Amino acid sequence: MTNAKIRLPKRIERLEEVAYNLCWSWNPGARGLFKSVDRTLWRSTHHNPVKLLTLVKAETLEARAKDPAFLQWYDSVLAQFDDYLGKSDTWFAQSQPGREGGIAYFSAEFGLHNSLPIYSGGLGILAGDHCKTASDLGIPLVGVGFMYPQGYVVQRIGVEGWQRNHYEQLDWESAPVRPAETADGKECVIRLDLGAWPLHVKVWKVQAGRVPLYLMDTNVPGNTPGDREVSGRLYGGDQKMRLRQEIVLGIGGTRILRTLGVDVQLYHANEGHAAFLMLERIRERVAAGASFADARREVAASSVFTTHTPVPAGHDVFPEPLIEEYFKGYWEELGIDKKEFFALSRVPGREGWNMTALALRLAERKNGVSKRNGIVSREMWKDFYKAEGVDEVPIGHVTNGVHMPTWVNQDIDDVFGQYVSKDWKLHQDDAPMWAKVKDIPNEILWRAHEGCRRSLVSFVRRQVSRRWRKDHVDATQVLAGGALLDGGMLTLGFARRFAPYKRATLIFQDIERLKKILLDPWKPVQIVFAGKSHPADDGGKKLIQQVYNLAKDPAFGGHIAFIEDYDMHKARYLVSGVDVWLNNPLAPLEACGTSGQKAAANGVPNLSILDGWWEEGFTGENGWAPKASTHLPDAERDAADAASIYQVLEEQIVPLFYERGPDGVPDGWVRVMKESIRTSTPQFCSNRMLKDYVEQFYFPSVESMEKKAVAA
Ligand SMILES: *Cc1c(COP(=O)(O)O)cnc(C)c1O
Repeated sequence: MTNAKIRLPKRIERLEEVAYNLCWSWNPGARGLFKSVDRTLWRSTHHNPVKLLTLVKAETLEARAKDPAFLQWYDSVLAQFDDYLGKSDTWFAQSQPGREGGIAYFSAEFGLHNSLPIYSGGLGILAGDHCKTASDLGIPLVGVGFMYPQGYVVQRIGVEGWQRNHYEQLDWESAPVRPAETADGKECVIRLDLGAWPLHVKVWKVQAGRVPLYLMDTNVPGNTPGDREVSGRLYGGDQKMRLRQEIVLGIGGTRILRTLGVDVQLYHANEGHAAFLMLERIRERVAAGASFADARREVAASSVFTTHTPVPAGHDVFPEPLIEEYFKGYWEELGIDKKEFFALSRVPGREGWNMTALALRLAERKNGVSKRNGIVSREMWKDFYKAEGVDEVPIGHVTNGVHMPTWVNQDIDDVFGQYVSKDWKLHQDDAPMWAKVKDIPNEILWRAHEGCRRSLVSFVRRQVSRRWRKDHVDATQVLAGGALLDGGMLTLGFARRFAPYKRATLIFQDIERLKKILLDPWKPVQIVFAGKSHPADDGGKKLIQQVYNLAKDPAFGGHIAFIEDYDMHKARYLVSGVDVWLNNPLAPLEACGTSGQKAAANGVPNLSILDGWWEEGFTGENGWAPKASTHLPDAERDAADAASIYQVLEEQIVPLFYERGPDGVPDGWVRVMKESIRTSTPQFCSNRMLKDYVEQFYFPSVESMEKKAVAA
């Protein structure tokens, strides 16, 4: 199927094929090719080649099709593209010879690229990075999730600092998705009948390199208007809506794989949202004649469950009567009675149907997402397992990582290519190779980084200028949005979802002390904030409002900025363009945190409370870890944590940043940047993460299974 709005000259017609495979987004050659089609459109479409190709003028395309330099580049990008997709000696082929059948990765959100707004934050970006990396390593994985036609909330901040929830209908012709087709070339639409709830589900396909993603959509003829909304928005609606979404994800997702004829041996549920998939697989086996006990055992042996949530209140729990509405009759199909059915998801001593408990019971292999998160999870579920000690709780961990080709800035990538290895991306988890970072001349790395900072500042200015010109926002909003940012000033970055445990306003605990740090005439500092609040979370919105009002306050002279509508596109500018990545969660509530890993790989050191990945990543020389006072009550704890952050800023960070040699290069600072890159990149790249999953959780060797059996 082709996009009717795209008309390409024959000689360059495969541009459409490349635009519809998201692997262009992590291939510098392909990115450069689209950029050279039309630079202005490239920028105005926020780097969306499908949209660019629908908008570009015919005469521009004709000119490109006759330009020898463009054609040479086109040919080389296509050769690379074919080579990447057809490669047979992948890591997976070499390390798991003869392994047949694929892995289905279920997730409620996927953060692949901005042109597909089907993610809200870290969990989704992780899922997107997981798929991209599976493609790079040749792991036979397929993604299963939702196509949300209204995406996630678009953030607009009013003049009073309040987040307005705004949704934009997806422009299908500008998004890299197409209807999925069954083996006989028909559109894939399935019918789901649960309780008295009939529902049609249509399936879309997105291609991320070698990995296909199947995304379900309920906006189909035949569904009631209410049911058409089920897949409307990510995390929209009430509890009933959420349950319906999870039914579609787990049960619908399993059924569409059957209809599409995808061969799957192993199922991975990213968070409890997808846990119904395990019930559905038991039902299939029972329908084929197995007993419940046998079916359950087989399903457990081929299920992996990743849990991220470190607090009991964070888990999805539904009232049992609500579950009964949809699953009446289902337990008979499983071959069990109502009591046994509800027992599958109950946490002793608590009410309700707990999705995490269900997944823990039905999947054999389970993991948290950092070493610390593994420990916290084992402690949290100790009673559930009636375990004597935490070591008996069968939850391991795989620390998250990030997809380096997506997150490392192009100019930094070029520096790595020149001094570390031309093929650094193929060997990104090779720690000894990264010792070569020391060979990069300080001035080269520093200039590349300063380029990133300047491009962040111009990006921010373009954004507020557009809001000023097109939306007639108030002048103070232009200032709060970053119009006064300085391209040469020490810049701290804080960008993530405004969930209360992340304590976005911690740095404002002592306003006077902060003001002194920011406004020092010789060594000034600025802070850039970004992040959305969940559309229903007024607490998060209040935090945004506090930051925003301080950003508007003339007393800070424009040294605080709040960038509206944080998303992957802005994240790429931020994680490479600031100088220090700030993170100050209430430990141990940061399950892992991945934005700091992105920053670290770009030579942006972390200033972070020891929690999540940073407990594993911090070496003493690759960033800063202000003391966290875990023993104090919350209010005192905030003040104490803030005080230790101020102290590190005043005594270490600010002086080191401004200590310049005759060439203007801060050699001491560059040393920290290099340590950050050298130590973090191999350890927190997603190649390392996927290899861990394959070797320890997907296809564990007999030895590692025995080790786990002892733990279980
Ligand atoms: C990486 C990323 C996140 C995750 O940030 P944390 O540090 O894990 O909170 C959230 N949103 C976007 C847009 C990201 O790119």
